[in-house]
Amino acid sequence: MRVAVVGLGMGGATLACLLADRGVDVTVVEQEEDPRPVGAGIWLQAMGQQVLDRLGLLDALRAESRAVSRVDIRTATGRPLVRLGYDAVPGATPALGVHRGALFALLHRAVRERGIGVDLGVPVTGVRPVPGGLAVETAHGDHGTFDLVVGCDGSRSRVRRSMGVVVRDHPYGYGALWAIVDDPGELAADELYQCLRGTRQYLGVLPTGLGRTSLFWSVRTRDMTDVLARGLPAWRDAARPLAGRYAPLVDAVDHLLPASYRDVVVRTPWRTADGAGAVLVGDAAHAMSPQLGTGTSLALADAWTLHHALAAHPRLEEALAAYERGRRGHVRWYQWWTRLMMPVFQSDLAPLALPRDALAPWVLRVPGVPGQLVTTLLGDRVSPWSRWELPVLREA
Ligand SMILES: Cc1cc2nc3c(=O)[nH]c(=O)nc-3n(C[C@H](O)[C@H](O)[C@H](O)COP(=O)(O)OP(=O)(O)OC[C@H]3O[C@@H](n4cnc5c(N)ncnc54)[C@H](O)[C@@H]3O)c2cc1C
Repeated sequence: MRVAVVGLGMGGATLACLLADRGVDVTVVEQEEDPRPVGAGIWLQAMGQQVLDRLGLLDALRAESRAVSRVDIRTATGRPLVRLGYDAVPGATPALGVHRGALFALLHRAVRERGIGVDLGVPVTGVRPVPGGLAVETAHGDHGTFDLVVGCDGSRSRVRRSMGVVVRDHPYGYGALWAIVDDPGELAADELYQCLRGTRQYLGVLPTGLGRTSLFWSVRTRDMTDVLARGLPAWRDAARPLAGRYAPLVDAVDHLLPASYRDVVVRTPWRTADGAGAVLVGDAAHAMSPQLGTGTSLALADAWTLHHALAAHPRLEEALAAYERGRRGHVRWYQWWTRLMMPVFQSDLAPLALPRDALAPWVLRVPGVPGQLVTTLLGDRVSPWSRWELPVLREA
């Protein structure tokens, strides 16, 4: 089978390695001429760590990460809303706070070490059935014909658009300005900190590898340019009152970068025609806001499940249907949670802050609730009663 993986991001690089290890003929097609280890800090949950472990990359990632085992969410007046430790669930694996670039560099190296063909500087515009398979389209003509094209091209996926499977694809009105700062004393220790003023402002602080920390500042997407134009001193004046003991990190910010989020739902993440197929993985299949810090873990779980389904089912259609079945409940749980959380944390629905601030501390005292929240954070929940597990590989 000739497989094209469109996008050398988290899901694409992982899938390419897994397929190459099984001897599949795989080519990666990436729009960037020179993909670099860039991006904000990410919070990598236990589910994603399990997939990296299967690729033999987890120890190397751990060496560049910080364990994040506590969450502290409070209001601008200093009132604690959520104080949660991963130890609420015995044996729970803490998240890793890591620079996205560190994870990318490891995955990129794994792709190179396997000798996988990577075609850089090729912005894909879509896929279409042609005699003998599926053509990968670009503005300058077709970029080869394949039996399977995997759209790992992120939240604005062009592969998704050309497949005609979109049910919902809309940008959130809020995003974030972010920065990574040196934190040599590791002030942020092992804690994810968020401080909220109503629903319109929040500051997030995330340990990001050794001696570094990421800051996130929630802002309306349409106001981002204005906030940036007003300059860092004005931003620091707004952010400092929310920073508490992290004020020195706010002062250390020397530039801010914008990030926006989308909410994407697809009907069926695959299509086949005449024995060839296209399928979506990661943000291309289910972009969501990063409130729960599970986007990367979900992309890695998709990659593992697709690789497993292709190994277990000789017929492509059966394999893609098995992939969809295997991912549906898990993805839906996280889509549902992030959609519920977004208006409460980042929206113009300011009155929601009142019940949130009044109820959250009490809800957290209900027996069982901290455990449910931690297991949701771990990235493997499907329902309050059941967990999602990585399928065990069984070759057909
Ligand atoms: C500010 C912010 C904070 C986040 N924090 C977290 C977090 O704490 N924890 C977490 O787990 N997740 C987090 N996420 C989400 C996480 O980054 C994504 O869910 C994850 O990267 C998805 O992986 P992916 O492989 O689907 O897409 P990506 O990693 O985005 O990769 C997509 C790749 O496709 C390429 N591409 C795009 N279009 C084309 C095209 N037309 N042709 C060819 N190539 C193309 C891109 O260049 C890129 O290399 C965050 C996201 C943002 C924006």
